[in-house]
Amino acid sequence: MSRIVRWVFLLLLLFGAAVALAEDPAALLEQCEAAEHGKPDEAIELADRALAMLADDDVALRFQVLGCKGWALSSLGQRAEVMRIVYQLEGLAGRLIGPVERVRALRRLSALHHRMGDLERSTELLRTALEQTEIEDLPEQRIDLLVNLGARRAEARQHDSAISLWLRALELIGDDGDPRQSLPVRYNLGIVFRAAERYDEAIEMLEGLLEPLSEPGMEIRLASLKTILGSIYLDQGLLDEAQQFLSASSQLHEQLDNPAEHTALLNDKARLHIELGNIDQALAFSEQAVAEAERADYHFSIVGALAIRAQALEAAGKYDQALAVERDRAGRVERFLVDQQRSELDELEAELGLALRERELADLRREREAQARRLESQQQREQLLTVVLVGLILLGLAVMIVQRLNNRRLARSSRTDELTSLGNRRQANEWLANAPDSTMLLMVDLDHFKEINDTHGHAFGDRVLAEVGACLAEFAARYGGKVARWGGEEFIVILPGKDAAAACAIGRDLRQTIAEQAIQLRGGGQLKLTASVGVTSIAAAAPDGDVKGWESALLLADELMYQAKHKGRNRTVILWPEGGETYRVADLKSGEVEVVES
Ligand code: GH3
Ligand code: MG
Ligand code: MG
Repeated sequence: MSRIVRWVFLLLLLFGAAVALAEDPAALLEQCEAAEHGKPDEAIELADRALAMLADDDVALRFQVLGCKGWALSSLGQRAEVMRIVYQLEGLAGRLIGPVERVRALRRLSALHHRMGDLERSTELLRTALEQTEIEDLPEQRIDLLVNLGARRAEARQHDSAISLWLRALELIGDDGDPRQSLPVRYNLGIVFRAAERYDEAIEMLEGLLEPLSEPGMEIRLASLKTILGSIYLDQGLLDEAQQFLSASSQLHEQLDNPAEHTALLNDKARLHIELGNIDQALAFSEQAVAEAERADYHFSIVGALAIRAQALEAAGKYDQALAVERDRAGRVERFLVDQQRSELDELEAELGLALRERELADLRREREAQARRLESQQQREQLLTVVLVGLILLGLAVMIVQRLNNRRLARSSRTDELTSLGNRRQANEWLANAPDSTMLLMVDLDHFKEINDTHGHAFGDRVLAEVGACLAEFAARYGGKVARWGGEEFIVILPGKDAAAACAIGRDLRQTIAEQAIQLRGGGQLKLTASVGVTSIAAAAPDGDVKGWESALLLADELMYQAKHKGRNRTVILWPEGGETYRVADLKSGEVEVVES
């Protein structure tokens, strides 16, 4: 079982590898280039597949694939599409780095422009490429370029220029060079020498090809070479030589079926026989020529054959027929030109449409970019605004917090006595205002404090006050209460409610606590203090008009404290409610307890 699984896995791997290999863009390019001449549809499909796989930065390969696609499209006559690709290619060409790549790219572009009928641009590109091969020293590429550029020059009827380019190419190929490379160049040189009316050089060049083109498989080329040589001799009035070459070409054509080439031969044979005065034969050959040209269905062959036919008819004195043929020829030429013009117009229109579309696209792209920029700056503004808002909110919060802390500090300090750190009178009032009726009040006044100040100085007096304050705070805490500095050397202790006995005990305890406190003197020794204390509870004093119960209780405590003073100081006087109208009054120094009714 596991072996089967392994096999299946292996097969899948192989299949995957095969798919991956087949889909390699370089391999697809190779297939595309093989198909671009004969099978343009296939080439386009291969190119599209390769393009879909190509990385953006693979400029060289992208250029070649697009070039292949462009060429295939041009074979299908899809001009607008080709021009679009040409624009793309021109953009890519600038990004190519290798010199060989650049030269190849320029050649491809030149070929495409040539196909699109732009001879000038095509020539210019080839010239640039040729310069590159000279700068970069690429002799192989230079030969091809010289050949191509020569062909463009010949097409533009710049014969001398074409001749010199091709001669340079031949020089570079050398005598031992590949004949497949040199033969076409020499053949074309012969033709262009003839066109330049340099007949001797044309004949010399072309006759030099008779032997190499006698190889099997070259029959069409050889036949056409012989026709051309015959034609040149004919032009020069050398009729014997002309007849010799044309007959030799005829023999070759017997085994060939090439109506266009055959038309050229028949035309020259008709011309020869006109020269020889064999008008009937001339008429027969010219008639055959027209028929062959029609069979070839090639405009220039037909028109050429009709011209010779008219000459033959004229030579035979058949002027009406000659005129009719001439009219036919003129009509064909005109129609051809009109058709050509129309298709050129169509092409121009297509190109213009393309250019417009490109411009529209560029406009759209620009608009989109501007919109993106606007959006971005808006977002930035919004972000900035948010930051500012958040900052302001945070700042506001901080100010609020600081203010609240400040207020709290102020509130605290407005209720705190600086010297003793105890609550002050305001604090004591607040506590009492919120206290239950059972709350106990102890008003404490230090005895003869003025003397302490007078004897030990005011600063010492301050220290004594602070120490007494701390001592009272400890005392109040012991009974679960609080203490405040009432003013000067007076303190008020506020405790939760107790019964009368407990209140008496606390009052006594307080007086003793103070009496027992010893304060160290700077010069050694201890200072003893006493205090007079008035004790009561809020419940002991009834509210009186605007005066609240606790306020009355304060006055009562004060009064009780003064009673203690009058009774000789260092004592506690208590007035405590016993229920109903009964109060207990105690003078805790003497220990007497008196219950009074008021
Ligand atoms: P007694 O209460 O026993 O009748 O005598 P006394 O001397 O304590 O009373 P008096 O009201 O005559 O004097 C109170 C003194 O307390 C007067 C003042 O100088 C002193 N005193 C008040 N406040 C302070 C303070 O903050 N620091 C100091 N060092 N002395 C203070
Ligand atoms: Mg006092
Ligand atoms: Mg006092």
